[in-house]
Amino acid sequence: MSNIVAIVGRPNVGKSTLYNRLTESRKAIVDDFSGVTRDRHYGLAEWLNHNFTVIDTGGYVANSDDVFEAAIREQVDIAIEEATVVLFVVDVTTGITDLDDEIASRLRKSKKPVFVVVNKLDNNNQVADAMVFYSLGLGEIFTISSMTGSGTGELLDEVVKHF
Ligand code: GDP
Ligand code: MG
Repeated sequence: MSNIVAIVGRPNVGKSTLYNRLTESRKAIVDDFSGVTRDRHYGLAEWLNHNFTVIDTGGYVANSDDVFEAAIREQVDIAIEEATVVLFVVDVTTGITDLDDEIASRLRKSKKPVFVVVNKLDNNNQVADAMVFYSLGLGEIFTISSMTGSGTGELLDEVVKHF
């Protein structure tokens, strides 16, 4: 049974950018499923001799805010169910939003390991801004820039310990 790392979070925090970075140079094994998995992308990644599957959730298709938030909740619940490890991506440039709070409260009830991934830390003077994410109540935070790749190695070092 292979290990699965699910990337969850509200739109625009950088989930797909992180997914592309983790799976870069790897061929996506499955892409653009139909039906219930329509909005999920699966790809292969490797770190320290561990091979694992990464799931990018998102690309929500919804015609109202309620449907939209329900879709996000559903993705989070599926991720909790099928993932070995959940990466909860948040955005240092916006701080914590209501939707972040709601996702966090669902993840706090999960027994799966959850990593709070504070993205868009493109330079070091944003480190102080990242501290607010401890208040999500999900433990340690990991600061990264999906754009430059900084911090992703330290994150993966910890993730693979759960395999
Ligand atoms: P998603 O909706 O969560 O999948 O987010 P995307 O991966 O599509 O990214 C949303 C926007 O954030 C895009 O314009 C990205 O280029 C930008 N973005 C993603 N990661 C970073 C980062 O580390 N730093 C900065 N400055 N922008 C980022
Ligand atoms: Mg996306």
